[in-house]
Amino acid sequence: MKLITAQRIMIFLSVFFALSLILFYVFSSDEIKNIALIMMGILFILLTIIRLLFWKCPSCNFWLPIREGAAFKHCPYCGKQLPL
Ligand SMILES: [Zn+2]
Repeated sequence: MKLITAQRIMIFLSVFFALSLILFYVFSSDEIKNIALIMMGILFILLTIIRLLFWKCPSCNFWLPIREGAAFKHCPYCGKQLPL
């Protein structure tokens, strides 16, 4: 999987994670809270898997930091330009 594809999937999953969090806090029904919790669990696992498998520098193979998001264009470890 290309780095840009992994980044887009991670953003997509993060948006759904945030929506699940909103569902959890907005609705008082236990059924909806349970669904939101299950969704958050699944999304967290998917995010972790994609990060561990694909969110790496193609040059040095180090895991890239997540907090900077799309803000960085160069690998913080080897300095090579990232294909983002
Ligand atoms: Zn690198």
